[in-house]
Amino acid sequence: MFPSSSRGSGDDQRPSAPDAGAPLAGARLLVGDRDAATAAATAEALRTRGAAHVRTAVSPREFRAAEHADQVWDLAVCDGAFAGDALTEFLEEWHAHHPAAPVIVTEDRPSAARAVAALRGRAADLVARHDPDALAGAAAHALAHPRRAPQAAPAAPAPEPVRMLVVGAHPDDVEIAAGGTIHRRAGDGWDITVLTLSPGGGGGDPVERRREAHRAAESMGARLVLEDLPDGSIRDDSSTVRVIERTVAEAAPDLVLVHSDHDTHQDHRAVHRATRVACRQVPRVFCYQSPSATVAYRPNRFVQLREEDVDAKLSAIRAHGSQASSRWYLEEDLLRSTARYWGRYSRSRYAEPLEVLRDAAPVLTH
Ligand SMILES: [Zn+2]
Repeated sequence: MFPSSSRGSGDDQRPSAPDAGAPLAGARLLVGDRDAATAAATAEALRTRGAAHVRTAVSPREFRAAEHADQVWDLAVCDGAFAGDALTEFLEEWHAHHPAAPVIVTEDRPSAARAVAALRGRAADLVARHDPDALAGAAAHALAHPRRAPQAAPAAPAPEPVRMLVVGAHPDDVEIAAGGTIHRRAGDGWDITVLTLSPGGGGGDPVERRREAHRAAESMGARLVLEDLPDGSIRDDSSTVRVIERTVAEAAPDLVLVHSDHDTHQDHRAVHRATRVACRQVPRVFCYQSPSATVAYRPNRFVQLREEDVDAKLSAIRAHGSQASSRWYLEEDLLRSTARYWGRYSRSRYAEPLEVLRDAAPVLTH
């Protein structure tokens, strides 16, 4: 279990001087033992083998004081009784102060349990307490075969968060189609931008609607970019492409979610087409399902959702307070049962569907 075998009193078979004695020359040693006479005998055995400086400590308090003192130690001998039942922790404390100095534990009757605790505490050896010669041999061995101090593992650089851009034509499009996905991935640490191209038509105070849109995005864990294209007449030409490209350049997404081309709403189709162009360099583009998607929408990727993701999606939709009450497709039982339905395909209770438009990622990591 230890580099040198456990020794009983008086039967140390290890060759002693000259090779075992040499490493003690000049060494600075701390010897702890509850009994002053035993400590002195041990210290003497070490001195006769060449140790230059040996200090004794006859209580845990004295041992700790020497351990914490501004003093370099090459090795410590520690009475296991000092540590009580917390031998491993006691030894770890030693290593924390003196990472390069081995520590040898002495016990009246070294047991398997104590040996395990000493091993866990990275003791160099476990030796019978009243055997100064065996102990001096173990000390010489430990100094001749220093254990490398454990190096703190270099902190791994934090991985770059995945950046996702979710593009929608109108306020609440994104929440309805991908609100659960956004909430789930934001919780995974993804950096998520929602781009809504039109502030929406219809009634209501435009300032209030803007505020609602920001609140909804925030509640999912995303930030919102709200553009000002005309509701109902979004075009799929270069002007729309440029508007989308602006946010693409800023958000630098790893993946994009957008309306499907299989959609009865002309704005949704236009946004889909313009996004395809604006995101031509983005390796992964997926289409979500809007309530106006046609039966030609064929999802082949399903994002598993937890109950809390569905709740967050519903509450993000409710944040669009001025609109949420009046539309059939915003009824909560429909939204929940739709997520439940797609869960069939994902081995999960709830899911949101995606249609892969392009997946050029080198590895499928998500
Ligand atoms: Zn819409």
